[in-house]
Amino acid sequence: MPNRPAYSVVVPIFNEEETIPELHRRMAAMLDGLDGPSELILVNDGSRDNSLGLLRDLARRDSRVKVISFSRNFGHQMAITAGMDHAAGEAVVVIDADLQDPPEVIPELIQAWKGGAELVYARRSERKGETFFKKFTASFFYRLIASMTDLKIPVDTGDFRLMDRKVVEALKQVGEHHRFMRGLSVWVGFKQVGVSYVRQERFAGVTKYPLKKMIRFATDGITSFSYVPLQMATTAGFIFAGLALVAIPIVAVLRAFGSDFFTGQATTLISVLLLGGVQLIFLGIIGEYLGRIYDEVKKRPLYLISEKIGFDSAVENK
Ligand code: UDP
Ligand code: MG
Repeated sequence: MPNRPAYSVVVPIFNEEETIPELHRRMAAMLDGLDGPSELILVNDGSRDNSLGLLRDLARRDSRVKVISFSRNFGHQMAITAGMDHAAGEAVVVIDADLQDPPEVIPELIQAWKGGAELVYARRSERKGETFFKKFTASFFYRLIASMTDLKIPVDTGDFRLMDRKVVEALKQVGEHHRFMRGLSVWVGFKQVGVSYVRQERFAGVTKYPLKKMIRFATDGITSFSYVPLQMATTAGFIFAGLALVAIPIVAVLRAFGSDFFTGQATTLISVLLLGGVQLIFLGIIGEYLGRIYDEVKKRPLYLISEKIGFDSAVENK
C-alpha cells in the first residue's frame, strides 16, 4: 500500500468545539516529532455543535487529518471502533479529545511498542481536576469488575492506549454492539505493558459522560464479561430455601407446644415483600442480559457514517 502511515491516532469527538483547535495544535506538534508518517483520524460522533465544521477545516489544512462523521451519536465506544476500523497505521493510538490524556505521552507509548509490547495501555498515576464522586465511582467500578471477571483489566486505565496492528486486526473481528473496549483489548491477549501518566483536567467544556451513561457503560462492562450477577440468583435461592428449611420445623414444634410467636399478618407481609423484591431484582438482572442478547441478534450495523474526508480509496476498508 503506498504511503501507509506508521502511526494512526484515533480521537472520538462529541461536542468538543472548544478543544479542537488546541487538540490539533498539540497533536500536530507531537506528530511532527515522530520518526515516521502518521495519520490523525478524528471521529465525529454526531456532535451538535460546530465540531464537524472545525474538523473539515483541519482536514483542508493538514493532510494527515482524516475525518469520519457519524449520522448521529453512536457513543464513545463506537467512535473508537470506527476509528480503528479505518486506521492504516502499524501502531494505532486511541486518545480522548479533551486533552485529559496529554498527546505528549504518545511518544512514550511508541517507545514501549518498539521495545516489543503489542498493547501499551496508559495508566493514570494521578487524576487532576476530577470530582471526588467521579474518582470514587471509577475506582469502585474497576474493583467490582475485577472481582466479577477473570479479566485482568489494569486498574485505573481508560481507553488511552496504543495497539499493534495485530491487536487492531483481532479487535476488528469482535462484532459486539455493547462493547467495552478496554475490557476487550485485554481479552484479546498479546503482550501488554503499562506506562503511567498524570491525567490532566479537561481543557474546556464538560464531561460527556453523565451519570446515566456511566451506569450504562458500567453495566455493559460487567454483563459482557461476567455471569456472576446471574449466578447470584442461585446463591440467593439456596440461602432463602435453607432459611425456610430451618424455620419450618422450628415453627411447627413451637406451634405444637402452643406458642403463637410466628403468627400474624406482619410476618407474612414482610416475607412476601422481601422475596417479591428479591425476585424482581433478579428478573431485572436477567432483563439486562436479555435486552443485550436481543440487541446482538438483531445484527444491526455498529455505526452509520454520513461523511468521510481525507481517506483515499486504497486505504479505505469499509
Ligand atoms: N465521546 C464521544 N461520544 C459520546 C461521549 C463522549 O465520542 O457519546 C468522546 C468525547 O468527545 C471525548 C471522549 O469520548 O473525546 C471521552 O469523553 P469525556 O472526556 O466526556 O469522558 P470523561 O473523561 O469525563 O470520562
Ligand atoms: Mg474526559
